[in-house]
Amino acid sequence: MSDLAAFREAVGAPNVLTGSDAAPYLTDWTGAYRGAADAVVRPRTTGEVAATLGAARALGLPVTVQGGNTSVSGGSVPGQPGGIVLSLARLDRIRAVDRAARTATVEAGVVLQTLQEALAVEGLDFPLMFGARGSAMIGGALATNAGGANVLRHGNARDLCLGLEAVLPDGTVMHGLSGLLKDNTGYDLRHLLIGAEGTLGVITAAVLKLVPAPKVRATAFLALSGLDVALEVLNALQDASGGLVEAFEWMPAPTVAAILARDPTLRAPLPTAAETGILVELASTRADDAATDADGAVRLEAMLLGAVENLMARDAVLDGTVAASGQQREGLWAVRDAVLETLVAEGPFVSFDASLPLSCVPDFVARATPLAEEAGLRPLPVGHLGDGNIHFAVVAAPGRSWDAGRVEAFSGAVFDLLAEYGGSYSAEHGIGRAKAPVLAARKDPAQLDAMRRIKAALDPDGLLNPGVLFGP
Ligand SMILES: Cc1cc2nc3c(=O)[nH]c(=O)nc-3n(C[C@H](O)[C@H](O)[C@H](O)COP(=O)(O)OP(=O)(O)OC[C@H]3O[C@@H](n4cnc5c(N)ncnc54)[C@H](O)[C@@H]3O)c2cc1C
Repeated sequence: MSDLAAFREAVGAPNVLTGSDAAPYLTDWTGAYRGAADAVVRPRTTGEVAATLGAARALGLPVTVQGGNTSVSGGSVPGQPGGIVLSLARLDRIRAVDRAARTATVEAGVVLQTLQEALAVEGLDFPLMFGARGSAMIGGALATNAGGANVLRHGNARDLCLGLEAVLPDGTVMHGLSGLLKDNTGYDLRHLLIGAEGTLGVITAAVLKLVPAPKVRATAFLALSGLDVALEVLNALQDASGGLVEAFEWMPAPTVAAILARDPTLRAPLPTAAETGILVELASTRADDAATDADGAVRLEAMLLGAVENLMARDAVLDGTVAASGQQREGLWAVRDAVLETLVAEGPFVSFDASLPLSCVPDFVARATPLAEEAGLRPLPVGHLGDGNIHFAVVAAPGRSWDAGRVEAFSGAVFDLLAEYGGSYSAEHGIGRAKAPVLAARKDPAQLDAMRRIKAALDPDGLLNPGVLFGP
């Protein structure tokens, strides 16, 4: 029996793709990573995933696990020829929604936005919110412990997962679809697999925590007097609203200008560019907040407006606009969501996925910016500022070439800065292949050694996602 015959037997011949059918699975979203594979195998059930992994192990073939292929760390496409891509896209069922318990049991290939749209009908939400939600899948989001704009209120993917079903590299199915909030029965293997980027097992389904869908949102774009007042502004808005801030996104003027220049259909958030722009969103499930007051204003919006006026009186906020309609809100988010596409279009770029203690962010930006400029680079940063996650992206400065040596030296300086602040070089995008050398060089040796031993115990042949996390 040929290698592919074993996979055809496992998932059915039409679900083993080769040649041009396989091509879309072999290039990552950024276009920077291109791989090769003998075939793309598309199972439909957990049993078929187990059969596929069992066949791959018997044949000694590497397996690259893929969800929506929106990884920005090069983790979702093969790093070496002569293996298979295991696509979870056909495991796309929402198995159950428990409205009373506010949980959903969902397969790995369910697209985030598809789940959110299905839940909206039930008055519920899965509050993981980022630009790739139209393609990213639940399994990929959990495997990377994805974050996004709402982490400051709802946490990362890890915080929203109660249980997992997964297939281990030897084909064993691990049953853990528990909706329990408390379960201290030994090692929490769910949390081992979440964030493991597919190196320890294939997530096939999960029990997710849901929240009631907000009855009302209030969204504003603010021009702050500087990054140094950002925390004061965030805290004031949290205090005024009783903790309803759901997103607090830093969008500085150069980045917004680059986004608008690339896509003229997008509207500038404010008539005058804001050096320190912030997209802020509040959300409430209280009917009272959705009601209109005597002046006909929605109460949550009126509350946000009042808080912003107070901040303007203190000179912390210089200017601002509150979205007056759903369409205006979508317009503001469209600008935010276009960041990565703009960077890809700008040509070569590096985006440092920095995580910092909240109070260190202004200092970090003040020090990283001149370092970039000295290296002939133009910073185009954005940030989930409310949780200390700054995507400090750089492209070549106007008139300067992209010099790999200079970029590498600059990268080293940024990693040193992050270490000085006790920050992280991988807040939410994962290590993938892109940052494997950084992990090898900078992770605490004892932790790295423990990680390697766990990997060797669960995947002794190193067949699952070789190259991801640990490098070639
Ligand atoms: C425009 C854009 C915006 C983004 N914004 C954010 C953001 O704000 N926050 C954020 O955190 N990320 C963001 N990302 C990155 C990306 O969307 C996330 O990492 C996402 O969680 C990946 O999901 P996916 O289904 O596409 O996984 P893939 O890209 O297919 O895979 C990602 C990794 O997970 C592994 N994997 C995938 N599925 C499984 C599975 N079922 N079991 C085990 N391992 C698996 C893969 O092998 C790979 O290592 C963004 C990406 C884009 C393109």
